[in-house]
Amino acid sequence: MDIADWTKGGDGITYQVCSACNALWYFQRGFCPDCGTGEPVAKQASGAGTVHARTLVVRAPTEELRAHAPYLIVLVDAEEGFRLMAHGDKNLQIGDRVRARFTDLAGRKIPYFEKT
Ligand SMILES: [Zn+2]
Repeated sequence: MDIADWTKGGDGITYQVCSACNALWYFQRGFCPDCGTGEPVAKQASGAGTVHARTLVVRAPTEELRAHAPYLIVLVDAEEGFRLMAHGDKNLQIGDRVRARFTDLAGRKIPYFEKT
């Protein structure tokens, strides 16, 4: 199965699962952060989750992002059980149910969370 991964230009969010201990996580790596077993399995996330935290960024860190400020960064608990940081709609509040769509920001494809 082909898995869409926005970090590789696809319209999807990927996470990894350990085949030995069933730990799961977001950032792609070659071994399990919990038990060290190699060859984790990549899986496709649904893109749905819940807002865990939100930060309104007023002073953007780069020239490209400055044009978009202020913008909201959210920490989302994906329904699969991992957590990721991404851009989101400015009106999002902690506890909101959200889903990712994919958009271009400053020339790069990013996941962007909106209320469902
Ligand atoms: Zn493991």
